[in-house]
Amino acid sequence: MTDSPSNLKISPPKTAGEELSPLLGSTCEITRRFTDFADFWQKEPVSARFALQSQSRHLLAGQRVGNCLRLRTDRTAPVDVLHAPAVNKAHFGNLQTCGSVWMCPVCAAKIATRRREELGEVVSIWQGRGYSVLLATFTLQHTIDELCIDVLNGLCKSFSEFWECRRGRKIKKDYRIAGRVRGLETTYTRENGWHIHFHVLFFVQGVLPASGVERLRSECSEHWQAVLSLHNRYADSIHGVDLKDANRDIAEYVAKHGEEDMAEAVEKIRTWTEAHEVTMGPIKRQTKRGGVTPMQLLAMALCEDEGAGRLFTEYAYCFKGKSHLHWSKGLRKLLGMSAELSDEEIAARQDEKACLLARLENRDWKIILANGARGELLAAAAGGDTAKLKAFFLSLGLEFVWINAPGQED
Ligand SMILES: [Zn+2]
Repeated sequence: MTDSPSNLKISPPKTAGEELSPLLGSTCEITRRFTDFADFWQKEPVSARFALQSQSRHLLAGQRVGNCLRLRTDRTAPVDVLHAPAVNKAHFGNLQTCGSVWMCPVCAAKIATRRREELGEVVSIWQGRGYSVLLATFTLQHTIDELCIDVLNGLCKSFSEFWECRRGRKIKKDYRIAGRVRGLETTYTRENGWHIHFHVLFFVQGVLPASGVERLRSECSEHWQAVLSLHNRYADSIHGVDLKDANRDIAEYVAKHGEEDMAEAVEKIRTWTEAHEVTMGPIKRQTKRGGVTPMQLLAMALCEDEGAGRLFTEYAYCFKGKSHLHWSKGLRKLLGMSAELSDEEIAARQDEKACLLARLENRDWKIILANGARGELLAAAAGGDTAKLKAFFLSLGLEFVWINAPGQED
């Protein structure tokens, strides 16, 4: 395990090429680590994301997440540590990024932030024109015995058909739905398995009274049930389609993947920890607040919950290639927006107004990786303080890292 909480790190620091030995221990020790991780996640979210990314790399061998922010883009050049004064944060330069919103907690957080900002802006633009935005949620019934891929396929096929058939087109026309943005999301519960659902923003050319919103919900629900039945799937009339008026904050809701509320996540992880104490085994009960997210499954896997690791792996391969956010055709043009950036493009984007703080040659970079210290390095560099950064490198025995002397930045 790499990128672990500092109190779990094996000392002394590792040298280049050394691998960390696997952490093995009793259930009691695992439980302690689990709680440690929850605290770590809350206090040091950047380092925690790197820790989760390392776990994803471990579970998903051969996927691009395994190279993300580890391998250099230009193998002949060093790894750069850059500081962006505008946000007072540090980031790496000359490293590959994977852009995998489903598999990579580091890229997912960056992508979600960008998508959320963009979505928030367009909701404001639309509402500024005197129109309204509604938030719909489409779900279907599922059981603990069903595979993730079966629930996902059932949902995706049904949702496409919903809009393609005559009745779907009529709903769109009758209620003046000019376009949609749909977000794909899942949680997992012990009782009912994969709860995969779509959050969909309806951009309505007008404002519907409350009775109109309810009428639209009822029509959508009826139509959704009919479409689902063609695929031998089912949703009840209340839960299949939910619909409400959306405000600007709704972008947070639709594009939040990888940006879980930390306090809530910690609470969920603690609940799962209690389950460990009771059962001494894999997942045995649902959390207090509904299902756990994939990133929370990954956190559990990091703490050696093998059941959670298998679930994360199942999810990751099923969701691979699916778009997280999808804009209906013509909507971006209608809103006067430029072409959408891909997940990979967003993940690879660098802050142009960043200054170079330090450069690490390959051997030094390997020591950072062997110690799982990428997150800690960024934390040490976050304020742009070269003395602090130097002290961090020295703590790992890296005496000769090139550090930009104060006053040399451009
Ligand atoms: Zn990545």
